Amino acid sequence: MALKLADYKTDVHNDWCPGCGDFGILNAIQMALADMQVPPHKATIFSGVGCSGKTPHFIRTYGIHTLHGRVMPFAQGAKLSNPGLEVIAVGGDGDGLGIGAGHFVSAGRRNVDMTYIIFNNAVYGLTKGQASPTLKLGMKTKSLPQPNVNNSVNPIALALVAGFTFIARGYSYDVRHLKDLIRKAVEHKGLAFVDVLQPCPTYNDINTKEWFSGSNNIDPVTKKVMPRIYKLEETGYDGIVRDPAEINEKMGKVIEKANEWGDKIPIGVFYQNEHIPTFQERISARIPNYVESPPAKQEIADLSGKT
Ligand code: SF4
Repeated sequence: MALKLADYKTDVHNDWCPGCGDFGILNAIQMALADMQVPPHKATIFSGVGCSGKTPHFIRTYGIHTLHGRVMPFAQGAKLSNPGLEVIAVGGDGDGLGIGAGHFVSAGRRNVDMTYIIFNNAVYGLTKGQASPTLKLGMKTKSLPQPNVNNSVNPIALALVAGFTFIARGYSYDVRHLKDLIRKAVEHKGLAFVDVLQPCPTYNDINTKEWFSGSNNIDPVTKKVMPRIYKLEETGYDGIVRDPAEINEKMGKVIEKANEWGDKIPIGVFYQNEHIPTFQERISARIPNYVESPPAKQEIADLSGKT
């Protein structure tokens, strides 16, 4: 029996603020799982701590709400113990690029075959809107007494130099496009990163949905709306490495696009390189039958009775 979107939803009460971009990301993950017909008992969602940390509570797969900044060690460990499991880690920008930055970089070096999604709203929403590592220098959101004094981390560029082999950016209010990106990330062979821009209407009063859509960005001459977000794939951009000889050229283009911010913000697939061996492939070279024959005790039970 084909799995439907409803099969990935739970009855757990959702207390995210009205209008939060988290809802779009949650829907996109559920839609991608349904698109790929991943049996719920064959997927596990891991989260760090923050508003996005509640995501596993709302998805009817196995789920683990882990520690602040530590989602990647948990998720990578599960994937390596059970290679047949579809593993998706989620967390906020503060969680993943602040306290979790060391794990982010280390994960890139390993290239474990799994997906990491960052809910990027540039603030620590759960603790009342402090500046996160992705808040731009000089920005003063409503919770800050002074403009941000630190420069921001560029998640796309950091993922590239850390070694992630699939790098994309989505927008939480373009759910179908985000769903397609998440599906590509999950289907990618290697470590995939999806940076998702998401308004936090409660604490980030600068990067609002009006700011992203450009509806408050009016050309002074033509008086027309100037949308900020555009799709890379509609410009002819191609970040897929088809031959290892192209790696340097493609990486240069990623950095160029990663630095685009302000009046124009690209979303889509920035980079994909399946020529780097995954961590599982490296381990397989040392442990015979590691991927093909995981021990029977690693079989995970389907407790739903649905699949
Ligand atoms: Fe969403 Fe911000 Fe509310 Fe957290 S504080 S649930 S990120 S709107």
